[in-house]
Amino acid sequence: VLCCSQDFDFFYFVQQWPGAYCDTKHSCCYPKNGKPAADFSIHGLWPNYKDGSWPSNCDPDSVFDKSQIEEVIGNMEKDWPSLSCPSSNNLRFWSHEWEKHGTCSESELDQREYFETALKLKQKANLLNILHDAGIKADDGFYSLKRIKEAIKKGLGFTPGIECNVDSRHNSQLYQVYVCVDSSGSDFIECPILPKSKCDSQIQFPKF
Ligand code: 5GP
Ligand code: 5GP
Ligand code: 5GP
Repeated sequence: VLCCSQDFDFFYFVQQWPGAYCDTKHSCCYPKNGKPAADFSIHGLWPNYKDGSWPSNCDPDSVFDKSQIEEVIGNMEKDWPSLSCPSSNNLRFWSHEWEKHGTCSESELDQREYFETALKLKQKANLLNILHDAGIKADDGFYSLKRIKEAIKKGLGFTPGIECNVDSRHNSQLYQVYVCVDSSGSDFIECPILPKSKCDSQIQFPKF
């Protein structure tokens, strides 16, 4: 039944901070149902190899099928909104993520399981709470990269990868948080390899 599935070693579960997606010179666009909550949202669940490379677009015959996520559409809209412009289109974002990344973990998770797994991981890794408990808030303040990493390591049990981007004033800021998940999608694990970080040592946590 499973065509073209490729093996992979682990997942990166990637969450984005909407404030950092939106305050760059490209700006952002909100979904039809309005401005998303001021919380981290899902970017994707990405199969990866231990050497840092990754498979993509593994099964051209497996197209995105909205009916598979009908039951969780409310949670998808809340936790996995698209913020891209010119017109934010959630279904297009989810379809892109399924076709590029999800099709590479079909040996482990079918489409329904893939999206439900990501939603579950979002509940388990409540980054905003974890950071808040460490006194790190989305208040436009600057925080040391080390402090952010250590707070997440303490709250989640595992060291995250942090990706930064730059805002329109060229400040380095907290954009995405990568945590690693075993290939069944059930548990967080220590990352076999962390993504390259291009953050300054002090980074801004922008308001949203
Ligand atoms: P960027 O150039 O913005 O870093 O990444 C562009 C796209 O490449 C991402 O949206 C994602 O689909 C993919 N990508 C980037 N880095 C990684 C990675 O470390 N692992 C995987 N699996 N995909 C990645
Ligand atoms: P970079 O210049 O950062 O190495 O990669 C540029 C782009 O190439 C990334 O945004 C990503 O889309 C793609 N890329 C880099 N490494 C890989 C890989 O191992 N697999 C795939 N599918 N794409 C990659
Ligand atoms: P990736 O290929 O890196 O997994 O996903 C990035 C693609 O998804 C890009 O084509 C980007 O335009 C689209 N996209 C749609 N909505 C969003 C969003 O809210 N955040 C990010 N990072 N990419 C989005």
